[in-house]
This record gives sequence, C-alpha cells and structure tokens, in this order.
Amino acid sequence: MTVCVVGHSSPDTDSVTSAIAYAALLNAQGTEAKACMQSEADGLNPESKLVLERFGLAAPEAIADAAGKQLALVDFSDIAQGPANLSEADVVAIVDHHKIGDVTTNNPILFRAEPVGCTGTVLNKMFKDAGVAIPKDIAGGMLSAILSDTVNFKSPTCTDDDKAAVAELKVVAGIDDTDALFMDMLKAKSAVDGVPAKDLLFRDYKDFDMKGKKVGVGQLELATIDQVADIRDELMKAMEEVKADGRHSVLLMLTDVVKEGTDLVVLSDDPALIEKAFNSKLENASMWIAGMMSRKKQTVPNLQEAFGC
Ligand code: MG
Ligand code: MG
Ligand code: MG
Repeated sequence: MTVCVVGHSSPDTDSVTSAIAYAALLNAQGTEAKACMQSEADGLNPESKLVLERFGLAAPEAIADAAGKQLALVDFSDIAQGPANLSEADVVAIVDHHKIGDVTTNNPILFRAEPVGCTGTVLNKMFKDAGVAIPKDIAGGMLSAILSDTVNFKSPTCTDDDKAAVAELKVVAGIDDTDALFMDMLKAKSAVDGVPAKDLLFRDYKDFDMKGKKVGVGQLELATIDQVADIRDELMKAMEEVKADGRHSVLLMLTDVVKEGTDLVVLSDDPALIEKAFNSKLENASMWIAGMMSRKKQTVPNLQEAFGC
C-alpha cells in the first residue's frame, strides 16, 4: 500500500513541502509514498502557492478521509489536526517539531520530533542520515518552509539547527538572497485584499483541546497591522461564527512581523481567563502583546497554563 504523507489541516508551507520532501525520502529508501495535503490545490494559502510555483513543485494530492490508509504524518501529531477518521488509519511514521499530540499507534513506528523551528529542518537531517541527496526543487521548498516557520529567523522557535539547515539548503537550491525570498513570501501571505474574512481566519488556524474545551487559534502574519484595519469588524464576525460552532474561545493573532509583536483578538466564554493567560487587558476585544510571534511557543503554552492543562 502506498504511504500517504500528510501535514496538518489548514496546511502551511511546512506541512506542504514536508509532505513532498518526506515522500521523496521514503521513495528513495524503497517505501512507496506520495505527498498529500488536507486541501484542494486551489485552497492552498497564497504563500504556499508561491513557493510551489517558484520551485516548480507539484501540489500534493488532496486527502480528506484517512480510513483504511497508511499515513505518515508531518508537522503535527494531534488528532484534531488530522484528516477525518485518522483513528481508522495505520500511522506508520511521524516527523514533527511540535509538542507530542494524541495520535496513538498499534505498532512501533518511526517517530522523529525535535524542538527546532521547522519540520523541514528535521527532514534535512533525515536526508543526511540516510545519505540521500535532496533534489534541488525540494531543497527550495524545505528552505522556504524554514524561513516561513521561523519568520526569517525572528521567531523564538528558531534554533541554530534551522539556520544551519538554511545555509545548507540554499546551496542545493541555488538561492543567494533568502531575505528577498522571505519578503516575497511575506507579501504573498499577508495579502488580504478581496479575501473573505473567514478565509483569512482559517489561513493559518488550529484547534486545540484545552481541558475538554475547544479553543481555536488563527494567525495572520502581516507586514503591518494596518493591513487589516478596514476589515476588523468582518474578522470579528467570522470569529463569532466559528466560536458559535462549539468553541469556548477563538483567538486571532494579528502578528506584525516588522514590529515583532501581536495584536491578539479574543472571543471567549471567559475573557478574564485569556487576559490572565497573557497578563494583559482586553480593549475592544484585543490586546497588544509585544514580542509575541509564535502560536506554538508563546500563545498555546500560556493558554494551556491558564486552562490548567
Ligand atoms: Mg505547520
Ligand atoms: Mg512547521
Ligand atoms: Mg506556522
């Protein structure tokens, strides 16, 4: 059976390019694998679209239902972020850089998770360990994922390993100016004109289980918060709709990549709890958190502590 390599829902550049890269590595090692993603190609976020086009990579195949399939997971191990019926799939490998989630398996599997900034960084090591050369186009994709996940090395999730991986991958991919590549990606990813508010909320969005309460956290990385000044009401409305669908809280991180901070928009059954989590006060349902760049390393751990997870 062909192994479907798949990243998390609302796929980001790491989820997409890591699926491509790990499928290539598995194939090179004699395991038949194909890259998949939890999205149709036209539903990909604009940054990922740009990266695939720039490096001539084909979009992974869409996968919606995992039942009866053999899966390798990249960039996640939370059931809530997987395709439907993940518990009826045979998970054969996991490569990740997040906290370990709640996926369980019946058999021993390859499980490689490292506290680095990007799954692409872990995969770069795995190619080297296996003695498999990374194809030029795939190196470009992996490099883009590292720049994206680490916000061009500015995120607190960024490690020396990520920087070292970029230094290696840029040679393979033949890219001189990674800052210019990052700015192209940022421009694509932060484009909001004409995009429905709900699509913006879901552009980079994850649900978490916090002590039995469902909490959604979206993030928009922007060159400046002004980019969304005119559509804040629409974003709030979209958040209200998403919250009404069984969620305790919905948060939207409006992250200013240049100022290095986040305007955190909050809709919650318990706003005081969220204020406590970030030691700040909400004004008009939002609060500025200086230095907040990372959902994984800053937002989610603070929420988990406040919710008593
Ligand atoms: Mg990701
Ligand atoms: Mg990632
Ligand atoms: Mg991300």
